[in-house]
Amino acid sequence: MSHYSVFSVLKGGLTSQRNWSRAWRDPAPREAYDVIIIGGGGHGLATAYYLAKEHGITNVAVLEKGWLGGGNTGRNTTIVRSNYMLEDNAHFYEKSLQLWEGLSVDLNYNVMFSQRGVLNLAHSDAQMDAYSRRGNAMRLNGIDAELLNREQVRQYAPMLDFTDNARFPIVGGLLQPRGGTARHDAVAWGLARGADRLGVDIIQNCEVTGFHIENGTVKGVETSRGPIRAEKVGVAVAGHTSHVMAMAGVTLPIESHLLQAFVSEPLKPFIDGVVTFGAGHCYISQSDKGGLVFGGDLDGYNSYAQRGNLPLIEHLGEEVCAMIPSVGRLRLLRHWAGIMDMTMDGSPIIGKTPVQGLYLNGGWCYGGFKATPGSGWVFAHTIAHDEPHWINKGLDLARFREGRMVDERGAGPVPGAH
Ligand SMILES: Cc1cc2nc3c(=O)[nH]c(=O)nc-3n(C[C@H](O)[C@H](O)[C@H](O)COP(=O)(O)OP(=O)(O)OC[C@H]3O[C@@H](n4cnc5c(N)ncnc54)[C@H](O)[C@@H]3O)c2cc1C
Repeated sequence: MSHYSVFSVLKGGLTSQRNWSRAWRDPAPREAYDVIIIGGGGHGLATAYYLAKEHGITNVAVLEKGWLGGGNTGRNTTIVRSNYMLEDNAHFYEKSLQLWEGLSVDLNYNVMFSQRGVLNLAHSDAQMDAYSRRGNAMRLNGIDAELLNREQVRQYAPMLDFTDNARFPIVGGLLQPRGGTARHDAVAWGLARGADRLGVDIIQNCEVTGFHIENGTVKGVETSRGPIRAEKVGVAVAGHTSHVMAMAGVTLPIESHLLQAFVSEPLKPFIDGVVTFGAGHCYISQSDKGGLVFGGDLDGYNSYAQRGNLPLIEHLGEEVCAMIPSVGRLRLLRHWAGIMDMTMDGSPIIGKTPVQGLYLNGGWCYGGFKATPGSGWVFAHTIAHDEPHWINKGLDLARFREGRMVDERGAGPVPGAH
């Protein structure tokens, strides 16, 4: 398989770039593997990659019912950050951000990770107090955070509404300079190529339809392409977590909701970093192609439909215009939705399950894209050692039974947190 470099592109030019080898193989499923990972999104692929790279476990299959990255990995607004206040989240997301910083070089694949900063806007003194508390907690955990006043926000994001009669006047903001965005498809493809290079079988169009469990221990899975044996099975299926785990007899504190994303027609460079609205729920950035990429709240009712709808367009349109009135005449190009598995404290679940040999990675709520490398890294550790890494110890499933919530917003058991 070719090593990607400027020299390989030049060499490819000699044959009009027609002789590139496949980025990953398309193998038929074998009868048995050491580890099966269900779900070929970023998290499943990252897990397989780190199982092979960090733990030398290469007899691994990733089973994907559709195509790689066709789930939330290819549908999100690509924001990467680690601006969390609570210990369990802060250490985990910071580990992930550190992995992002070296991911393109590590994979020999440009995932277009761009650290342009993530700015949370504050519109009241009380909000500034809350941000200073979060920023201080971040700094105590060694995470970069800067509290900006109104003038500093203006310098960072001059396109925002700084007029005297702004509907939601800007008081200041909390900036994480190392946050940013990445190219979501490239993340899935780069991880798939990296895992495949290390010997992992990536099997698309292979739906897991059941589990083989004997005496409380997993023995393999049933799939649309026949049974496959494995001593260890990791589940990383995002919005399908509840019903896949139900096949193993495990019920979860998760609800499935839709989250939509929106892209405008392209503009010249206009927004440098990621900006989030403090008077509602809206986050916006600009893609390399020029489109404004934005999103907001969940649709607010349980659903498995992966498509957008009109009420959210109006809602998000209002929020974007309140933040940046100058885009009022911009046209929306397209919008879509992904299925979100929302936990009751807004934090993910990465760890063991009541079934021996069955491991769970899910409950990503609004924020699993930024977790992709970190999630794969700690999940691979958990599977390889049959116990969590200290970084994901507090993000276990048992916390819901034992009352150890990781409730970043302090909002209580509602499926809208993140
Ligand atoms: C609109 C939107 C915006 C978002 N914005 C952000 C953001 O800005 N930043 C951020 O950090 N996060 C964001 N997220 C969340 C993020 O996208 C997800 O948390 C993350 O991508 C989850 O990755 P994953 O690999 O777990 O899931 P997926 O990419 O969904 O992968 C799961 C895979 O499992 C497969 N699967 C399901 N059932 C089976 C089965 N039975 N057998 C085999 N395969 C199966 C699916 O086909 C799917 O490909 C957003 C999500 C959405 C929908």
